[in-house]
Amino acid sequence: MTSAGNGTQAGASKPLLEVRGLTVHHGQLRALDRVSLRVFPGEVYAIIGANGAGKSTLLRTIAGLHKPTEGVILLDGQDLTRVRPERRATRGIAMVPEGRRLFESLTVEENLQVGMTYARKGPWTIERVYELFGWMRERRAQRTAQLSGGEQQSVAIGRALVANPRVLLLDELSLGLAPVVVRRIYGMLPQILATGLTVLLVEQDVSQALRVASHLQCLLEGHTTLEGRPTDVTAEQVEAAYFGLGAPGPEVLGPEVPGLGPGPGGPGGYGGAGSPPVSRRGLGGIAPPEETGAPLWLG
Ligand code: ATP
Repeated sequence: MTSAGNGTQAGASKPLLEVRGLTVHHGQLRALDRVSLRVFPGEVYAIIGANGAGKSTLLRTIAGLHKPTEGVILLDGQDLTRVRPERRATRGIAMVPEGRRLFESLTVEENLQVGMTYARKGPWTIERVYELFGWMRERRAQRTAQLSGGEQQSVAIGRALVANPRVLLLDELSLGLAPVVVRRIYGMLPQILATGLTVLLVEQDVSQALRVASHLQCLLEGHTTLEGRPTDVTAEQVEAAYFGLGAPGPEVLGPEVPGLGPGPGGPGGYGGAGSPPVSRRGLGGIAPPEETGAPLWLG
């Protein structure tokens, strides 16, 4: 699949979602440092970056699960920065959280019903989700614990869709799934976009992100290291941004960027098989849970 975004920055004058100078702390750790982005209607905007780059923190802050230290979040020009998470849902922000967070003792249909708690009016109903994922209707009475990872991910997407968001936040859809399953799930994106949604996604599988995105931003330790259209950036630029390298010459032996294949450093390089993931977890200690009033399944 090529770029799935049907909106372009050239064609749309006003961003639907805008983040300006967002800084977020977890305890002492500055997880995001003055990050900005503009997502235009109908676009698929991808955030890439290694473990601990701040990608999930960014999505979760947009959904209202973390309070920023600085910065502004605007939806269609309206300031959402201080709006409670459930109100953001009714304004049109829904998230598929990392790890899916389904209620595994509930059935497929019950999980979808949960997604309607803060639903807006719109094209997405449970019936429409069953049409999108052909297997789901027959298995609607099955508990989600009995589903495969890919099926669970589809239910999590359905749960977000029935809220009829304007902006769909997708956090690491590919996590723990086989490549063929990942491709199948991303293959649904055009049908989702066709109903008028705009997508902001986080993805560690860089080649997958590049395939579907009309715009991308790379984060490294909370900073923006690259921003642009996939067609305007080279694999070398992405690799350099991903790991914070200088402009890599042929002598720079890079590690593997997931999805871009092994860099010259090969699988033994940092980030390759057997290497510890890049992570800053623990630098600032675990922040206490925030009293956000967020929907339980996002928490
Ligand atoms: P991953 O792919 O591993 O999820 P990420 O790019 O999504 O990485 P975040 O999960 O946003 O990164 O984490 C950014 C940094 O903030 C990391 O150093 C992480 O350890 C830290 N962090 C995230 N959540 C918390 C928390 N609740 N308390 C303390 N530190 C946290």
